[in-house]
Amino acid sequence: FTARFGVPPVEWHSDISAAQKRKSWRFILQGRASVVVGARSALFLPFSHLGLIIVDEEHEHAFKQEDQVIYQARDMAVLRGRLDNVPVVLASATPSLESWVNAGKTGSPPRYNYLALPKRVHGAQLPEISAIDLRATPPERGRWLAPPLVEAIESRLKAGEQSLLFLNRRGYAPLTLCGACGTKVTCPNCDSWMVAHRLAGRLRCHHCGHESRPSNDCTACGAKDQMQACGPGVERLAEEVLIRFPEARFALLSSDTVGTPKAAEAFIRSVSDGEVDIIIGTQMAAKGHHFPHLTLVGVVDADLGLAGGDLRAAERTFQMLSQVAGRAGRESRPGAAMLQTLEPENPVLVSLIAGDRDAFLAQEAAARQAAGMPPFGQLAAIIIGSPHEDRLFEAIRQLASTRPYFDSVQIYGPAIAPIGFLKGKHRARLLIRADKSVNIQHILQDWLGTVKLPSSVRMQIDIDPYSFL
Ligand SMILES: [Zn+2]
Ligand SMILES: [Zn+2]
Repeated sequence: FTARFGVPPVEWHSDISAAQKRKSWRFILQGRASVVVGARSALFLPFSHLGLIIVDEEHEHAFKQEDQVIYQARDMAVLRGRLDNVPVVLASATPSLESWVNAGKTGSPPRYNYLALPKRVHGAQLPEISAIDLRATPPERGRWLAPPLVEAIESRLKAGEQSLLFLNRRGYAPLTLCGACGTKVTCPNCDSWMVAHRLAGRLRCHHCGHESRPSNDCTACGAKDQMQACGPGVERLAEEVLIRFPEARFALLSSDTVGTPKAAEAFIRSVSDGEVDIIIGTQMAAKGHHFPHLTLVGVVDADLGLAGGDLRAAERTFQMLSQVAGRAGRESRPGAAMLQTLEPENPVLVSLIAGDRDAFLAQEAAARQAAGMPPFGQLAAIIIGSPHEDRLFEAIRQLASTRPYFDSVQIYGPAIAPIGFLKGKHRARLLIRADKSVNIQHILQDWLGTVKLPSSVRMQIDIDPYSFL
């Protein structure tokens, strides 16, 4: 960075010490920092003469902050740019539907200028993407890698090239159940399964962080040695890689194994130096790392993100899989990406394989427009939660009996939330959909202002929700 621009950037993120933050803050206030590279909160720094804001990977869902103060940092960057009257660049190879629409690509009047970068960095070619139909060529029982993918990995090993196996599931197995009575090991604080983490020797809830020691005996029926791990996480894939390719050097890339920026740096260096043959990674592996010897990406479960009723499931899956496929063949060597799927005819996968991002965005835009969903309509979620189930039901009754009726506004619920019990609280959810012309904030204010919720019931309002749990 310094070589290119002549100045080192000032860093701003949560891993910076408080003392360093104070120093940087003053530096920025005094106008002595030329470039700040920062996370979401960098938008609130006291820049004295801001000239440009660049939001890299603008489609990233992590820009939406969901705890405490809820905001979308990309939208906040656009707002800050408008207040300071400076240009804002939203950069992405797989733009969000919101930005695509704002750039006028779906026929509505453009609010943003559209700049295209048609060539890839270093002149690398896009990888050849193909599907492996798991119905036609399934893996053997208890294995997760199908024969065509295994063959492709073998040929890379022979050629001295690297492969990446992508599975967005931390730990060993997402579910542990009793073979005798079928009881699933669940979290005491949430309606969710405890995820087996064998490297750490723990069971962990990925929602609230609850941990317990795994047991071989069932707590429900008392059966001995009947607990079975179901489904794969990256640790279990590593086990299969070890059995199939005993000579290969492999490394796990997930937030459990590579937890700090320093560790990530060391990991990237060892891969770039060719010390690893097979990388097994979660979404961390999809990020823009540059691995020059990587020529094969195997997506172990391309269907994983497509299930469920999440508004942005298709968009998120398309973005993540394009990004992870793009890890293959970055330099002179052409790359290949193989997607293991039970549904190769799914439109998301079809556009991905055809390399047709614009077709995907057009389809997605048409579907959202037909449903009046964002960015063509507005959506808000109201989540109410209480440790006491009876109080929650009282709150549900109140909200249901006072709900307003308007044209061009639909209110769905209140209903028990998809995760009905989370972090020790019973939860219910309402979704409010409204046309663009409606002032949804006013409606919510007028309605919720009249509702007196029982004590211990907490309400949270999320405008344009990203999480639908
Ligand atoms: Zn049992
Ligand atoms: Zn939990």
